Amino acid sequence: MIDGDPRNVIAAKRDGLAVDPEELRAFVLGYARGEVADQQAAAFVMAAYLNGLDDAETLTLTRAMVDSGETLPLERISRPKVDKHSTGGVADGVTLVFAPLAACLGLAVAKLSGRGLGHTGGTLDKLESIPGLRTDLEPAAFERQVEEIGCAVAGQTADLVPADGALYALRDATATVASIPLIAASVMSKKLAVGSDLILLDVKAGSGAFMKTLEDANALARACAALARDWGRSTRVAVTDMSQPLGDAIGNALDIVEAVEVLRGRMRGRLRDAAVMFAGEGLSRLTGIGMGEGRAAAASALDDGRALEAFRAMVAAQGGDPRVVDDAESVLPRAPVRRPILADAAGTLAIVDAEALGRASGDLGAARGRKADPIDPAVGIVFRPKIGDAIEAGQVLGEVHARTEDEAEGAAASVRSALTLVEGEVEPPPLVYDWQGQMRP
Ligand code: URA
Repeated sequence: MIDGDPRNVIAAKRDGLAVDPEELRAFVLGYARGEVADQQAAAFVMAAYLNGLDDAETLTLTRAMVDSGETLPLERISRPKVDKHSTGGVADGVTLVFAPLAACLGLAVAKLSGRGLGHTGGTLDKLESIPGLRTDLEPAAFERQVEEIGCAVAGQTADLVPADGALYALRDATATVASIPLIAASVMSKKLAVGSDLILLDVKAGSGAFMKTLEDANALARACAALARDWGRSTRVAVTDMSQPLGDAIGNALDIVEAVEVLRGRMRGRLRDAAVMFAGEGLSRLTGIGMGEGRAAAASALDDGRALEAFRAMVAAQGGDPRVVDDAESVLPRAPVRRPILADAAGTLAIVDAEALGRASGDLGAARGRKADPIDPAVGIVFRPKIGDAIEAGQVLGEVHARTEDEAEGAAASVRSALTLVEGEVEPPPLVYDWQGQMRP
């Protein structure tokens, strides 16, 4: 049984009072063990969402989340170990490209990822659209795979950060995701539980992110960097643009198709640029080569097929059908209805409500409404234009992949109403706004 009454923690947070650290720790550990009820945890995350957590409470929460399961020191891994995590965005398939890319460059990536949350997609859901692929790896198997192949992407299990697994799903279902301390604790608990040499964080800012403003994204970046510093861990945090979908695919299987295209060196654009940037940063910080050299090495590994082969090896090691690399569309689930999205006016694309695009994809079935809901891996949206592009009336902007004609029609209308077109030129936003963080001396 848990020490103390869970209601003390909820009431203190509800009333804006300091939460006793021992009680908060017992609450989190108790929730992970199933001894604190979902409704109590839901009340706590709502109170924390509304009243915030101070730095000490965020640290206590993060520690308890790490301590809710085993940790993975990765002592047997011989290569330099890099981890990477995004705070969540739309068409953000960077991890799918980054993990095999970094692995084929000689780094080790032991990555604990999350599921779709709110309007944002989740790497685990995307990967699980590959028939047979498992993300519930036991810690020993996870570590063995990283040593043998250079990368593994798994979810929180009953063994690894189970408190985050439970809280993450609960927050998704209770509209309590967009909170700086809750996101910082969630992201960093997964990173601190794993003994990597460098943690790379991608904190997203803009309409498709949980942090809509640069100011909030910078605050989240600082909160994550502070947790890493308190743990004595090296971290580099990029604050990157999410004022539009990063890649083109907003779904699950659709993101795999896109990631394979990038890994094959065929697709250029911001998704590839972000993966190259993070792989270059990791390579440069961990091996001492220059940043330009690191990025050039990453770009060549995409262009010469090495990254794609590393992805094939990772998929096969996790039980997935490796033919996804040769012909993704025939291996992955397909939606019965495909309908083009046509522009209803001409102009320059100036504003994209990326959250609305994420929600439209979720409404098609690509995201879950409640904690235990299944998702449909086949459905989603492909949206190709980027801010600054000139658009003609009637131009095909992308496609909806849906279960029914009506749902496809509804999603296409939602996409059109998420766009603002203007006359004249529009400056595209930068990919990266800022870097923060510190290397351990
Ligand atoms: N990603 C996470 O891992 N946790 C969050 O809370 C949000 C994004």
